Amino acid sequence: MARATSDYDESDVRIRPNKRGTRPRSKDRPAHLDAVPGMVIGVDRGRYTVLMEPGSGDERTALTMRARELGRKGIVVGDDVFVVGDTSGSPDALGRIVRVEKRRTLLRRTADDTDPVERVIVANADQLVVVCALANPEPRPRLIDRCLVAAYDAGMSPLLALTKADLADPAPFLENYAPLEVPAVITATTDRDGTDGLDAVRDALRGHVSVLVGHSGVGKSTLVNALVPGAYRAVGVVNDVTGRGRHTSTSAVALRLPDGGGWVIDTPGIRSFGLAHVDPERIVTHFPELEAGTDGCPRGCTHDEEECALDAWVAQGHAGPSGPSRLESLRRLLRTRHPQTGD
Ligand code: ZN
Repeated sequence: MARATSDYDESDVRIRPNKRGTRPRSKDRPAHLDAVPGMVIGVDRGRYTVLMEPGSGDERTALTMRARELGRKGIVVGDDVFVVGDTSGSPDALGRIVRVEKRRTLLRRTADDTDPVERVIVANADQLVVVCALANPEPRPRLIDRCLVAAYDAGMSPLLALTKADLADPAPFLENYAPLEVPAVITATTDRDGTDGLDAVRDALRGHVSVLVGHSGVGKSTLVNALVPGAYRAVGVVNDVTGRGRHTSTSAVALRLPDGGGWVIDTPGIRSFGLAHVDPERIVTHFPELEAGTDGCPRGCTHDEEECALDAWVAQGHAGPSGPSRLESLRRLLRTRHPQTGD
């Protein structure tokens, strides 16, 4: 049996796939010696589509359900899992997910800012791509800032994907993000189906597991279709552009880029990010030259209050010439955690 390329820690060794299945079962630990590794690429009404043995010559997709022993533990797109039962991928097969690996990153949202319940959207992605039209519809800076905060909180790197550059100059828009050093790729629609600048997007996505977010009309579906031709047909998600496809309640779906170039995870069900769960300290760690100045802050400082030590830190030049604009940008992001109508 071919092994996946992921690393295994000590605890994995005991239940790694064992073709012979000769080891005795124990009542004290799970004994799924035949469990097969996979990656969750789709979630729909209690059924999980899993790419079995990714990277091996034996790759196939299998429909699975959650094993009772997992209890209430959530399973989301991007999760690395182990599956038992029929993992052949044949149409009538239904495997069982018996284990979810520790997550490397965790993109979360609060249902809304006044609701403390957290929901995990995607696991193990490393890049959050905020798709934003430069015009028609107009960019919504506050919404974009909220996405950046969600990315930083998740431990993911943000990337701006600006569409419709044929309608507006990207330069003024990008000024807002220069202090944050958020990279950007720019595309323009050249005709009904064509997208100019796609190579730059492909380069930025290569080798990454990227989550794409963006509100309706920004061209996210067009972009995904251009990157992964036929993507939505294959997974049965309704295509915003053509309206064709099966209606599902899916909130995220993982699509492999051609030529093994990485993964894009589209989030058709995500309209906004509630950020009530976000700890300011997690955001500040993405501003290392400012984080060093928080030692003088009062306990529990929000870093956006009068007693905050960062003003003096920046004024004394400790954060370099870009310190003031970086602090201003940090505080702009921190403020987006507070509810405001119109998000
Ligand atoms: Zn502070």
